[in-house]
Amino acid sequence: MNREQMIQQLESHQGKWDICIIGGGASGLGIAVDAASRGFSTFLAEQDDFAKGTSSRSTKLVHGGVRYLQQGNVKLVFEGLRERGLLRKNAPHLVKDQSFIIPNYKWWEPPFYGIGLKIYDWMAGSLGMGSSKMLSKKKTLHYAPTLNPDKLVGGVLYHDGQFDDARLAINLAQTAVENGGVLTNYMQVTGFIKENKKVSGIRTKDLITGKEYEIHSKTVINATGIFTDVLLKMDHTNATPVITLSQGTHLVLDKEFLPGEAAILVPSTDDGRVLFAVPWHNKTLVGTTDTPIELASLEPVALEEEIDFILAQIGKYLLKAPAVKDIRSVFAGLRPLVKGDAKSTAALPRDHLIQLSDSSLITITGGKWTTYRRMAEDTINIAIKKGMLDQRTCVTKQLKIHGWKESINFREELYYYGADATAIRQLIHEDASLQTKIHDLLPYIKAEIVWAVQQEMCMTVEDALARRTRALFLDARAAIESAPVVAALMAKQMHKDEKWQQDEIDNFKKIAINYFPANYNRKI
Ligand SMILES: Cc1cc2nc3c(=O)[nH]c(=O)nc-3n(C[C@H](O)[C@H](O)[C@H](O)COP(=O)(O)OP(=O)(O)OC[C@H]3O[C@@H](n4cnc5c(N)ncnc54)[C@H](O)[C@@H]3O)c2cc1C
Repeated sequence: MNREQMIQQLESHQGKWDICIIGGGASGLGIAVDAASRGFSTFLAEQDDFAKGTSSRSTKLVHGGVRYLQQGNVKLVFEGLRERGLLRKNAPHLVKDQSFIIPNYKWWEPPFYGIGLKIYDWMAGSLGMGSSKMLSKKKTLHYAPTLNPDKLVGGVLYHDGQFDDARLAINLAQTAVENGGVLTNYMQVTGFIKENKKVSGIRTKDLITGKEYEIHSKTVINATGIFTDVLLKMDHTNATPVITLSQGTHLVLDKEFLPGEAAILVPSTDDGRVLFAVPWHNKTLVGTTDTPIELASLEPVALEEEIDFILAQIGKYLLKAPAVKDIRSVFAGLRPLVKGDAKSTAALPRDHLIQLSDSSLITITGGKWTTYRRMAEDTINIAIKKGMLDQRTCVTKQLKIHGWKESINFREELYYYGADATAIRQLIHEDASLQTKIHDLLPYIKAEIVWAVQQEMCMTVEDALARRTRALFLDARAAIESAPVVAALMAKQMHKDEKWQQDEIDNFKKIAINYFPANYNRKI
């Protein structure tokens, strides 16, 4: 997947596209894969990098949602569990079976959660990941040795899926391209083209070259997540807003806080939500919060009270409570929730909404990463039903996602590239220096940066450190320190000068500082 080639294909395209998609997050990329694999001519424009928005900032769970079961949203749970199973089959290099422990501190909790999770197992049917079971106190501590044993009566173990969100986004983009789609990052949609008051295309600006395009299309899809309402207003100044924003913050701690294989689910925090502590790339990911936010931003910043809240909540359950000094990275993401009458954003449903404007603009919003495939299928089906596209059947239930490999060893280095790992090893074979790590405290090697530039449309140091590798999300300080090495490697590949390198390092630092809990140093 190469940006120059994509621009060439965009410029040489004759006639109208079947589909233009605005937004390269889970929703837009899923639609690009669905549309391209049905044989529709497909173009996708992402204003920043793929998954720069909410789609790189999730809790990284592919799940039916135990919490939605508690809320009685059976349809959402069924759909999530089914999609979890399909994604595990189609992207086995990115979705792991993750065991979770719900620690029980009251006598009634083991039967209560035990029965609930048996229902969860049953709902997953043949796509289940393993049976849940009730555990004694001893067994619970065996799976989660850092849990606070005081007053612990036992636990319930269940299985769900765990994934790498930004890596899946890149692999989806590659899958769409392999099926004939044209996708590009750093391409901002600035307006709509209209004929007889109907949307018939988009105006875009290439943010790298400054060049502007008019792209004509039979169907235009607004998949812009937290910017949904901005695009709706671009279409019609009086458009009614459809989404509300809720911020979720995560902390990343060292593995010592969760040294076993199992994750922990705290079923009820002080604000009545659930909290996860999940092993992720040899670290511990803890979150999240649900804070109503007014302003849509691609770089939301974690609030101090969110950080304090997560530390306090998880601290109650662990033998050693983490402190601010233990935080390796903190990141925030904004949920684009479909507006409702609920009093708090935590109570709003995570269902998706597909809307057809009077101008024939199709808008998809809400949902979750887990259900991206189903959301995409529904969106294209609606375009077909409305006569905007010809009838063609969805094939994504069986479609292997780029990187698919028969068997995956999650203990192997580079496993998350799936089938691509062989080609990355070949890079090392040709140049042994690429075997060197980009930083002692990070798991990434130089070959991954070269690969990202050559094959994954990686354009900036931030793309490389935040979404091609997950360095920024794992250890913000180490990511900042590795920026010069990464900039030099990229400059060599991209034939850029020293000024480009310095600008890239400076830009990265400006962003990365928000992931580094230095702002909270006074509390250490
Ligand atoms: C804290 C948190 C935790 C979550 N955890 C989970 C989880 O564990 N499991 C799960 O299944 N789901 C989870 N989710 C939900 C999931 O992450 C989201 O549903 C999903 O990522 C939304 O994807 P999207 O494509 O709709 O939005 P986005 O990822 O935000 O993508 C929209 C894109 O549109 C682009 N765009 C906007 N305007 C323009 C324009 N004018 N031109 C071109 N491009 C434009 C943006 O740059 C952006 O990249 C979580 C969400 C949050 C916030």
